[in-house]
Amino acid sequence: MELRINSLTKTYDNGVKALDGIDLAIQPGMFGLLGPNGAGKSTLMRTIATLQRPDEGTITFGDIDVLKNPMQLRQVLGYLPQEFGVYPNMSAEDLLNYFAHLKGIYSRADRKKIVHEVLEITNLSQVKSKSVSGYSGGMKQRFGIAQLLLNNPKLIIVDEPTAGLDPAERQRFLNVLREISTNHTVIFSTHIVDDVRELCHELAIVNGGKVLYRGSSQAGEDAL
Ligand code: ADP
Ligand code: ADP
Repeated sequence: MELRINSLTKTYDNGVKALDGIDLAIQPGMFGLLGPNGAGKSTLMRTIATLQRPDEGTITFGDIDVLKNPMQLRQVLGYLPQEFGVYPNMSAEDLLNYFAHLKGIYSRADRKKIVHEVLEITNLSQVKSKSVSGYSGGMKQRFGIAQLLLNNPKLIIVDEPTAGLDPAERQRFLNVLREISTNHTVIFSTHIVDDVRELCHELAIVNGGKVLYRGSSQAGEDAL
């Protein structure tokens, strides 16, 4: 399904124009949103995720009119915000089982199956009995991905997920994203050029709330 964003604008109360007429069409696969701090990436991500409203513009995902039917989008959305999650002192397996229940997976067998799957995909199976509160930053980020995969989202938004990760953790995290991007639409925001180089076929470069470049990362080598 295609995500289409048209003429999106947002000016904050302090007068900062965070989105200044954003137009984007995003196809399934891994899409990189690259821009420096303050470019407007988080504002755009939160707006797509229906956590805040723009001043003007439209967003559609397939036949969902996102701004008119935010609940419909939320049912097919997996969103990993920029802030690290704070987790209770529970094992990853128990916590995922609990989240799966909250997401409406009521059969114990179904929960067991999906929890096993998402732990495998995120490469956390070996540490599933450890407390998530004791996880490293990278493991927490991968746990965040495991959590959002529970209800098989069609659109996945990850906001600056590699910020603050050391090189080994970053690589492990990118590997997980690479794996899930083969059958999902993933929008990945970052200020790290190499993240986009390694992972994304398509990208947009944003700054000052505007799209400065849109195209393949191959063709965009000069822009990068
Ligand atoms: P990025 O994610 O690329 O760093 P943001 O969307 O967080 O960019 O921010 C874009 C601009 O909007 C920045 O100048 C930022 O300071 C400003 N901004 C973000 N959130 C708010 C807010 N809640 N109130 C006022 N200004 C904000
Ligand atoms: P940090 O960068 O904070 O050391 P890492 O995620 O690199 O965090 O690793 C923390 C510890 O957990 C390391 O000993 C690492 O080998 C181990 N570890 C990390 N991920 C996994 C995993 N998926 N399975 C088993 N052990 C892991």
